[in-house]
Amino acid sequence: MVTRVAVVTGGNKGIGKAIVQALCKEFQGDVYLTARDEGRGQDAAALLSSEGLKVNFHQLDINDVGSIAKAAAFFKDKYGGVDVLVNNAGIAFKVADTAPFSTQAEVTLRTNFFATQDMLTHFLPLVKTGGRVVNVSSFVSVWSLNKCSPQLQERFRSDDITEEELAGLMRRFVDRAKKGEHKEDGWPETAYGVSKIGVTVLSLIHARRVAKERPNDQILINACCPGWVRTDMAGPKAPKSPEEGAVTPVYLALLPAGETAPHGKFVSEKTVQAW
Ligand code: NDP
Repeated sequence: MVTRVAVVTGGNKGIGKAIVQALCKEFQGDVYLTARDEGRGQDAAALLSSEGLKVNFHQLDINDVGSIAKAAAFFKDKYGGVDVLVNNAGIAFKVADTAPFSTQAEVTLRTNFFATQDMLTHFLPLVKTGGRVVNVSSFVSVWSLNKCSPQLQERFRSDDITEEELAGLMRRFVDRAKKGEHKEDGWPETAYGVSKIGVTVLSLIHARRVAKERPNDQILINACCPGWVRTDMAGPKAPKSPEEGAVTPVYLALLPAGETAPHGKFVSEKTVQAW
């Protein structure tokens, strides 16, 4: 029998590391901690190994399509695909960061939306029957959606938005931000929030597509919020530990065989949320 495999991006610290840790305990198969930096990734894997966990490492920088393609080829070759994919890697500028909004928009969207999109382009075809895909978005996506113009909200909530249209809207946000016209164009004043709208909507699009194109493959794709978690990104005041933040992503990654829901949802605290 082929060994099952779970892959987590941005696994060297924070919520990603806690997801890897939980999967090492609960997932029946091989677990891969991936990280953009080989040294940081190997150190995190060594730490988990020292806790008695069996963990594997593979380099994966989601901003580097070559790195994505190399990792995808590795999993295809060694495992014939992937059973669980958790797209956790993400960035956020600190509130105090003085970088211009245009730069924050471009850089944040590049990693959180476009690089996650590249990951899905390369890895979705590898997802096996019964596979689970979890895209770590944020409650900020819902908050930001409600701050968009009615026209944008209608598109982001529609059932017929395509990946191309979504990517075009994400590009439009960056474009308008560069010209200082994003507010007039109906966007909220948050690059992180818009990037996570993109992650949530992309998840819903892929869920609809997989239901249509692979109706018998029992693949479940969802976006989620881990909650507000004490990590380098969110700071020390957040109420949840990384382990608590991992609970919902891990719940979605381990939805038992035969389950048909949730699929194509935004999930927080293990509960489907309105979008
Ligand atoms: P951290 O900053 O602690 O960790 C982010 C992880 O993503 C790091 O491992 C980082 O690697 C990795 N990463 C960033 N860019 C890339 C890249 N190009 N390729 C591969 N890995 C990359 O953040 P959190 O653990 O808090 O966040 C994890 C996810 O949860 C993010 O998607 C975030 O947006 C989301 N989230 C977090 C919340 C919170 O309260 N903490 C709330 C809601 C959502 P490196 O160490 O090399 O920088």
